Amino acid sequence: MLYHNRSGLHPGARSTVSRHFRAHGPALIAALACFFLGPAVAHCAEVTLTGEATQGGLLIGRTAVGNTVEWQGRNLRVSPDGVFLVGFGRDAKPRSSIVVVDKEGAGQTITVDVARRDYRIQHIEGLPQEKVTPPPAVSERIRSEGARVAAARSRDDPRTDFANGFIWPLEGRITGVYGSQRVLNGEPRRPHFGVDVAAPVGTPVMAPADAVISFADPDLYFSGGTLIMDHGHGLSSTFIHLSRILVEEGQEVRQGEPVAEVGMTGRATGPHLDWRMNLFDVRLDPQLLAPPTAADSD
Ligand SMILES: [Zn+2]
Repeated sequence: MLYHNRSGLHPGARSTVSRHFRAHGPALIAALACFFLGPAVAHCAEVTLTGEATQGGLLIGRTAVGNTVEWQGRNLRVSPDGVFLVGFGRDAKPRSSIVVVDKEGAGQTITVDVARRDYRIQHIEGLPQEKVTPPPAVSERIRSEGARVAAARSRDDPRTDFANGFIWPLEGRITGVYGSQRVLNGEPRRPHFGVDVAAPVGTPVMAPADAVISFADPDLYFSGGTLIMDHGHGLSSTFIHLSRILVEEGQEVRQGEPVAEVGMTGRATGPHLDWRMNLFDVRLDPQLLAPPTAADSD
């Protein structure tokens, strides 16, 4: 299913200094980024972007060794072999520019069209107010837990574990999806950023890719047993509502290795794994990175 569509490959177009890509659904986007060094000299560095250019999607970029990449006003980490990551949040703007600069300082702008998604919005009226807003007594706890989670997600590790792809951490029915939102008593709540997979308490959950454990806490107020795995370059997976955590902060884990067990800790209504993915503070949709499920091919 992934990467079936090759688009935007124009190897002969050496005179173009700016490129524009459109990709709806999974795509491999490729280009020659050409840097003009003099009247007749064009140095063309190939840039490829693999993944889904859509809200919640992640692109894995590859460029020539030694090039730098700017995106949204900052320099992205580029691995020694030229790999970098770009990710789009739930409400990402329809157009995004990536600037690739070669060793001589010549820049090339690559414009990516980011496909818009429609999210499920659910209105619920008549809920008792205390179910909607946490009591003031726990606000300091919530704030400090949020800061610790944000710190774990701000790590910029040189590892490139993401390059080998992702697997589902467990099998089960998908009961919640990325981007959906509830409006309780007329008040929009934070959107749901994970994918929920229903399974009995105690079901083992596996690392979706190689990682280093960057956060492990058995009892956060909202998310209960919480585990964060750092896959490199700011890309992390978070598992929440866990009943048990089997690994420790700083430990390296391999794809498929059991790291925790399903639970319903924190503010959960039933046993399930909630799997979230972040590129730093940008929320990504794990379902776009995991292999297609049976439901996807209906
Ligand atoms: Zn959830």
